[in-house]
Amino acid sequence: MRLSQVHVKTLREVPGEAEIPSHIWLLRAGMIRKMVSGVYGYMNMGWRTVRKIEQIVREEMDAAGAMEILMSPLQSADLWRESGRWSVYGPEMWRVRDRHAREFCLGPTAEEVFTDIVRDEITSHKQLPINLYQIQTKYRDEARPRYGLMRSREFIMKDAYSFDKDSEGLAESYRVMFGAYERIFTRCGLDFRAVYADSGAIGGNESQEFVALCEYGESDIVHCGVCGFAATADQAGFRDEPAALGDEPLEEMKEVNTPGAMTIEDVAAFLGVGKDRTIKALLFAVYKDDEEIGRETDDADDVGGKAPARSYEVSEYVCAFIRGDRELNMTKLVNALGVAEHLIEFADESLMSEATGCVGGFTGPTCLHDCRIAVDSELTGLKNLVAGACRKDYHLTGVNYGRDYTADIVTDLKLVREGDPCPVCGAALGSARGIEVGQVFKLGTKYSEAMGATYRDENMEEQLIVMGCYGIGITRTMSAIVEQNHDDKGIIWPISVAPYHAIVTLAKPDDAVALEMAEGIYKDLLVAGVEAVLDDRDERAGVKFKDADIFGIPIRITVGRKYADGIVEYKLRAQSEASEMTPDEAVSHAAAAVHTGA
Ligand code: ATP
Ligand code: MG
Repeated sequence: MRLSQVHVKTLREVPGEAEIPSHIWLLRAGMIRKMVSGVYGYMNMGWRTVRKIEQIVREEMDAAGAMEILMSPLQSADLWRESGRWSVYGPEMWRVRDRHAREFCLGPTAEEVFTDIVRDEITSHKQLPINLYQIQTKYRDEARPRYGLMRSREFIMKDAYSFDKDSEGLAESYRVMFGAYERIFTRCGLDFRAVYADSGAIGGNESQEFVALCEYGESDIVHCGVCGFAATADQAGFRDEPAALGDEPLEEMKEVNTPGAMTIEDVAAFLGVGKDRTIKALLFAVYKDDEEIGRETDDADDVGGKAPARSYEVSEYVCAFIRGDRELNMTKLVNALGVAEHLIEFADESLMSEATGCVGGFTGPTCLHDCRIAVDSELTGLKNLVAGACRKDYHLTGVNYGRDYTADIVTDLKLVREGDPCPVCGAALGSARGIEVGQVFKLGTKYSEAMGATYRDENMEEQLIVMGCYGIGITRTMSAIVEQNHDDKGIIWPISVAPYHAIVTLAKPDDAVALEMAEGIYKDLLVAGVEAVLDDRDERAGVKFKDADIFGIPIRITVGRKYADGIVEYKLRAQSEASEMTPDEAVSHAAAAVHTGA
């Protein structure tokens, strides 16, 4: 590519909406262009990098025995109704209708579509296992699209689905995909970690996320330096400390006046006890979904064409209790309750008081009715705690599980923090932040059962197909690479995903001899298999150097001051020092760097 012949525009200023380095640099380099909120277009260099990431993914998926296909992002609502996800997926799903008012969505993922293909095509055990994948545009109407390609509403994903005869087969397919993912992210030049994860709306029972470590990531992870355990903070189990008060005699439960003490801090200070001797209450309402109240999504027209997140009819109230110094893990609560995440919200206390007897700031587990009570497992092993008395300005002391209250659900509801005990070995956990670039799931038979995907085994008996699914955010991976590879001048692409390998910078484009030398280098690079850009624009050398740094092209060859002596400058974007050499040497250095991937 000759920059004199194409239009490539870098930005000198940081665009207003961009907050993090990858978003800033991809915009400033002119690689992506915002269309509307959370939707981006790709300009030449940006698209070349997207395609390089796709190619790495393709090569590793093919090598792992998966087969590429391409389905449409437009998916029929009927398929989603079969799996039961049409009503539970929530407002992230981009729903559309055709001229006959038939409902569709722009696929946020494609388990239903792939299960549908396989139930039609697979009949015998002889056709299994099989792994199908596609690289396709996905749509999710994210509540808070941000950070450019990191959390967008339209993005490119590689999604793969494995189909096996049994759970041993699935374990093998999962293991093979896991290995492919490690190779993919390594080849993309990422510093990443595989961690245990929650399986969210996709479902299933075992899942790992691949997290690219970086400051601005939206995933919190915890890891153990002793046994190697690593998980998202959402997923990490909490090892309850053995009840410290083992021999303490049970006190009588007493009501005490605690005027104005509505927070855990106030109560603990007022009564002179540690926050770890108090019980914290968190109140929630679960709303009915569209199906429960018999509403068609067509009714969305009544609310300005946008499907409401949920109905406004409460299906149940929930009160969760945890130790006063802990934080609630919403993912664990949602999983324990078995409700869809978008249907649960902090409750309007005044409405909930009437229905359940709770009193804002003074709610405890001993005095509620008509609500589901979820208690963190740790509380059941602790004695003589302080809890709200469901009466304004009153708390109870000497509260004990079993004697004074019980629960509908007792389970681990705690958010794990740095320093908490590792659930495997008990050592103190460390923490880190990162970007989820990929996720692998063991789905089991969730979709094959709901949609009737079966095969006949050796005895001609009908069996359910056992599934796994495996996603990689191609465009999010691009963001993650920039997050990990930039400096204050611009992007520093790893050579494997760089839009071009080398840029030939011609300092004086009006000098015929220099121009001829630069042209020669450019052509020789192309012949040597080096993807090259020739910066022959009529611009000052300083501008060209700045742009080359913003683009982040790994190798720069400058035809500058010493061209008349047959000397050019060879510089790597990742290093500050340049070396001088002949044009031929520069070409062979570049070719060697590209072919060894160094
Ligand atoms: P998140 O928790 O970040 O919302 P997810 O777990 O819902 O993501 P998956 O369903 O696992 O996402 O999708 C597979 C991959 O697609 C993710 O690992 C991620 O790389 C990518 N991805 C998901 N949502 C987005 C998005 N809004 N923008 C860009 N990439 C995304
Ligand atoms: Mg995920």
